[in-house]
Amino acid sequence: MEIDVLIVGQGLAGSLLAWELAGRGLAVCVVDNELCNASRVAAGLVNPVSGRRLVLQPNIAGLLPAARHCYGRLARFFGDQFFVERPMWKILSGPAQKQQTERRLQQAEYAEYLQAIDVGGHGVVAPFGILHQLQTGYLKTEALLDALRTWLLASGAYRQAEFDYALCAWSRICAGATSSPNASYSAKATWRRPIPGSAACRFNLQRA
Ligand SMILES: Cc1cc2nc3c(=O)[nH]c(=O)nc-3n(C[C@H](O)[C@H](O)[C@H](O)COP(=O)(O)OP(=O)(O)OC[C@H]3O[C@@H](n4cnc5c(N)ncnc54)[C@H](O)[C@@H]3O)c2cc1C
Repeated sequence: MEIDVLIVGQGLAGSLLAWELAGRGLAVCVVDNELCNASRVAAGLVNPVSGRRLVLQPNIAGLLPAARHCYGRLARFFGDQFFVERPMWKILSGPAQKQQTERRLQQAEYAEYLQAIDVGGHGVVAPFGILHQLQTGYLKTEALLDALRTWLLASGAYRQAEFDYALCAWSRICAGATSSPNASYSAKATWRRPIPGSAACRFNLQRA
């Protein structure tokens, strides 16, 4: 099996990378040990202003349209809506957060993401108010990962296996590039030619 890119991990990062690269005509293979997947337990919330101090995520003006575009293409391909856009309520935790929220509401760059503080009602106990947030939503992560896994399997591009980094010296990798989860161990190789009989990662793939 000869591939252009070996991707370690079928979480959101690996799955979406595989989808994107395959769409650009590259032969990919995703290897996952099916042991510990953060994407499958994540709430999947998409929230431009988050954290206790309500900080606007950097580059959100570019990221949100890119996410909508990507999830829109996936929805059309799989016939399922994975990204659900919904306004979000944040129950303010105390006077300090209420004060911080009031400050944010005055800042021009927050205007399209924060609407107003609502003082109560809706059957919700919120003594310090509820912040109404905009351009928020959630991703149905399990459904998306299942759909992408089925697609990868059907394309012969998925292996359930442990990728052994120790065995796989970079000079012995036969893929054009390798990507690993959480971006902690990714590298782009410039070599593309398989080295006969010496590709440890190829051995791992065949074993799976
Ligand atoms: C409880 C929880 C809630 C969260 N909620 C949100 C949220 O609401 N919004 C948000 O934006 N983020 C949230 N996150 C963070 C988000 O889930 C992660 O940042 C994201 O899913 C990471 O995706 P990933 O593909 O990098 O890693 P993962 O989804 O963890 O995928 C990595 C995969 O690689 C496999 N793997 C690892 N090493 C190897 C190896 N050597 N060989 C083979 N396979 C291997 C693992 O088993 C796993 O399947 C949450 C996280 C958690 C834990």
